[in-house]
Amino acid sequence: MPITPALLPKLIQSIADTIVKNADEVTALDQAIGDGDHVFNLQRGLTALVDQSAELANLDWGSAWQKIGMTLMTTIGGASGSLYGTLFIAMNKATLDKTLTREIFADVFAQGVEAVKKRGRANAGEKTMLDVYIPVADYLKTVDAAADLTKVLKQIACVAKEGVESTRDMVATKGRASFLGERSKGHIDAGAKTGQLMICALVDVLLDDLARPPSATPA
Ligand code: ADP
Ligand code: MG
Repeated sequence: MPITPALLPKLIQSIADTIVKNADEVTALDQAIGDGDHVFNLQRGLTALVDQSAELANLDWGSAWQKIGMTLMTTIGGASGSLYGTLFIAMNKATLDKTLTREIFADVFAQGVEAVKKRGRANAGEKTMLDVYIPVADYLKTVDAAADLTKVLKQIACVAKEGVESTRDMVATKGRASFLGERSKGHIDAGAKTGQLMICALVDVLLDDLARPPSATPA
């Protein structure tokens, strides 16, 4: 069964919940090497998406990405606002009228991540959210169309967790943390952490959806 935007309200709620649950931890990370506002920025965007989620559920994927992107761009603020806006708007451009198969999603997501790299003039290894998103995009590109979806989803969560952990020993060369230079070492990047939390929340909903017997799906 293809995943449709009808699942968006659950996906968005799960993301919003995980950010609320981990808000203190992320704020502490951002206070250590940033200005401490990252969670509040992100929560503004997620609250707006929760409010729009019923509407988003009725759109096609391309229009949903576009609306999500515009909402995040205009509500999050900070460096991450324009980057998240860019991610989803680029995903819309890459989606066009394609049906979202697993392979096409991998390509659409990779193009979104490429757009974020361009927008932030950043790459892997600079201690940002990209240290989660680039490895996940790279992993998705390697997945065989016949691969077991449960295993793929669990692997996505592992790749995201490795990605966030990898930021600990990096020296920040982008964003506010770069002002600290070498002193940014030893701390996890807050934007990478929220990226990982959101990816893991998506994975949990998708695993739950897969595990449900077809009869449990309302007609
Ligand atoms: P600000 O830094 O403007 O206060 P936020 O606190 O909302 O914005 O977001 C900070 C996060 O944004 C960082 O932790 C980092 O992951 C990400 N970030 C900052 N600059 C860049 C960039 N140039 N490219 C990619 N991600 C970035
Ligand atoms: Mg900040």
